[in-house]
Amino acid sequence: MTATTDAVPTDDLTTEVTSCLEEHWDPDLTVEEWWDRLGRSGWAVPTWPVEWYGKGLSRAEGVRVMQTIGTFGALGAPGGLGTLLAGPTIIVHGTEEQKQRYLLDIVTGRKAWCQLFSEPGAGSDLAGLNTRAERDGDEWVVNGQKVWTSGGHWSDLGMLLARTDPDVAKHQGITYFALDMHQAGVEIRPLRELTGRAMFNEVFLTDVRVPNDAAIGGLNNGWAVANTTLMFERSGLGAGGGGGSVAALPGTVGGDLARRAGDFLRTRDLTSGGGGGSPTSVQQLAALARGNGTIADAEVRQQLAQLYTLNEIARYTNLRQRALSRAGGEIPGLGNIAKLSMSRILRLSRDLSGRILGPYATLHAYDAADAETLAAATEGAVQPGVTESMLFAQAPQIYGGTDEIQHNILGERVLGLPKEPNADKGKAFRELPKNG
Ligand SMILES: Cc1cc2nc3c(=O)[nH]c(=O)nc-3n(C[C@H](O)[C@H](O)[C@H](O)COP(=O)(O)OP(=O)(O)OC[C@H]3O[C@@H](n4cnc5c(N)ncnc54)[C@H](O)[C@@H]3O)c2cc1C
Repeated sequence: MTATTDAVPTDDLTTEVTSCLEEHWDPDLTVEEWWDRLGRSGWAVPTWPVEWYGKGLSRAEGVRVMQTIGTFGALGAPGGLGTLLAGPTIIVHGTEEQKQRYLLDIVTGRKAWCQLFSEPGAGSDLAGLNTRAERDGDEWVVNGQKVWTSGGHWSDLGMLLARTDPDVAKHQGITYFALDMHQAGVEIRPLRELTGRAMFNEVFLTDVRVPNDAAIGGLNNGWAVANTTLMFERSGLGAGGGGGSVAALPGTVGGDLARRAGDFLRTRDLTSGGGGGSPTSVQQLAALARGNGTIADAEVRQQLAQLYTLNEIARYTNLRQRALSRAGGEIPGLGNIAKLSMSRILRLSRDLSGRILGPYATLHAYDAADAETLAAATEGAVQPGVTESMLFAQAPQIYGGTDEIQHNILGERVLGLPKEPNADKGKAFRELPKNG
């Protein structure tokens, strides 16, 4: 297994990954043992730098590695916000000591992370956050409330944004901490969503403690660090990242680390649908339309063609970016464009699914028992995987910065259009009017 920073021909890459899998994969290992081998081999997060458990590969090559692991029949790398957001952010902003402390546990899936950014009064206006951290010797004492915290209930650590100086402008007095979620004062309350799942939570922080050396990127520099995380979030989610396809949960809370790795390779339960995020593919929808005769509807055919075209445009944009980055360039605003494109594709896929399923789109199975009953009653016409994707399609236009915010960023930072009026400019956070 050699490290590389250049594009690797597909065959060489596949051969290299396959030979590592042949040597190390064993379905009888526990998830923890398998992820330890995979993480240390550099193939768990191959897009990370060689010196930090990666291979220095491009995103497209990283996707090929994940596909090779799947085709081989081994359990994929740990997913979640540790590999997607926390790790890459720590690589950019963390000290050497912080990289040593956090990164190995992320690539080996031993610790799971959540993102403690949004608050009831601070979503799009994230810099307006109210959670405060006050210094107490070598530690900070944190009080406040976060919301929409995905995976908060199975996380070991949180990427916490807290206000450390209310006397400066709102973007300037924020610090980014790695918060230990297993301590008194961290109260996690699940929020049930449209899909019937409770993927995200409210998190109440009362006198919780975080050491000063867990501040990532330095005191009051949290806005810059948060923007790095958001940049990884947009580009990762736009590229379909998030590790949603791996059934085993990383971290000490989910309980999967001690289980047999091979047991996670069973065919996915129908009710898991798109795993909360993967869209139903054009090919699946075309097959459904052929199967129930709706392919005769001209509008269905048009929307299938449109969906196929949008997916191809996204693929070509990625290829263009790959070619450009080899030449040292980049597409300005690509992360924002990728996220907008992904949310548009999911909405179109939702509408098309509704047209193809007709009235059956209004029936959803929330668990395996529901799926069985509905399948029997409708002679298989109900499609729980498809309806789950339809219900989830509302989410991508909101998380990681709403579509409107992506448009604002593209307008202001990429196209150079006039900025939105900002009455807060230059005022200390303490003097600003607050929500609620
Ligand atoms: C599935 C899901 C998972 C999430 N996971 C997490 C997580 O793990 N951690 C976390 O911290 N957060 C998470 N979030 C929260 C998410 O980041 C916020 O919901 C998002 O930033 C929007 O904030 P808000 O909900 O407060 O809406 P608001 O900011 O109140 O926006 C309401 C509406 O106003 C529009 N709007 C606001 N400001 C402007 C403007 N300046 N110009 C034009 N339009 C504007 C918005 O586009 C939106 O339509 C998640 C959200 C979802 C849906």
